[in-house]
Amino acid sequence: MDVSVVVPLYNEEESLPELCAWINKVAAANNYTYEIVLVDDGSTDGSWKVIEQLSENNAHIKGIKFQRNYGKSAALNEGFRVVTGEVVITMDADLQDSPDEIPPLREMVLAGNYDLVSGWKKKRHDPIGKTIPSKFFNWVTKKTTGIRLHDFNCGLKAYRLNVVKNIEVYGEMHRYIPVIAKWSGFKKIGEKVVEHRARKYGTSKFGIERFIKGFLDLASILFVGKFGKRPMHFFGSWGTLSFIFGFTVFVYLTISKFFFDKSGLTQRPLFFFAILAMIIGTQLFLTGFIAELITRNSPNRNQYLVEKKMRC
Ligand code: UDP
Ligand code: MG
Repeated sequence: MDVSVVVPLYNEEESLPELCAWINKVAAANNYTYEIVLVDDGSTDGSWKVIEQLSENNAHIKGIKFQRNYGKSAALNEGFRVVTGEVVITMDADLQDSPDEIPPLREMVLAGNYDLVSGWKKKRHDPIGKTIPSKFFNWVTKKTTGIRLHDFNCGLKAYRLNVVKNIEVYGEMHRYIPVIAKWSGFKKIGEKVVEHRARKYGTSKFGIERFIKGFLDLASILFVGKFGKRPMHFFGSWGTLSFIFGFTVFVYLTISKFFFDKSGLTQRPLFFFAILAMIIGTQLFLTGFIAELITRNSPNRNQYLVEKKMRC
């Protein structure tokens, strides 16, 4: 199959017929063998009814419906489990992404041998309260991960099939899929400027809390990517550092008490500082042990992505 289009959606009944008709038109014009996987993320409007109707009239259209709203990441992840196309395209249901971008994205993945090509909404049609924080996020993500993209959270992306089969998008990590892909070992990540349109029907499904969650998710993803398989290296080094620091100060205070400054130890603010540093250090160290125990027992503790093999 040439291309699979995965569309996560939550209460988008008005947009779906238009979106599917447009994708069908593009696929027919390019002679693609294709599928459209509509993942209904627990919609409470008539979205699923619309999907059933669309699917009855067109065998290329497939649907999955969640029992409740789990979030865009979960919907994408579920869609990724069933797709079979050589190239997998994700796009939002709200017609903000244009299906006309499918052929050039697919071309770019195949011709450029890319693992992932992310859309870049260079000219955005979103309120300013969204575009400015988003600029900041993209800048921080670029700096901290070293991935040179302008628009990490663009809904329109193209993947090689084995990429989506080997990454896990959970929580609200759909904002950082390129980061997840990179940590999984998919290095060839590209970018293409795509057309972005104003939302035609309905309203945005993400509120202001997106920024707080976005920040926390970035912190977790950086941590898991770097120390997920060896948490003790993080907690242990900071814990040891903190403990040694506190202990040194403590030794200094003790010596100075006996030889120079005969006033009480507890009179000196530095004393509390030393105790605090030792307690925090010990706690970090113990957290490291617990984290190691947890990772040792995780089912994928020894799973690695093998790129190539010879004679085995
Ligand atoms: N979406 C989803 N589950 C959710 C929230 C959103 O599947 O819990 C879908 C939504 O229907 C749309 C896409 O994710 O297809 C992007 O959402 P939206 O357009 O509201 O985000 P924005 O464009 O405002 O960033
Ligand atoms: Mg949108």
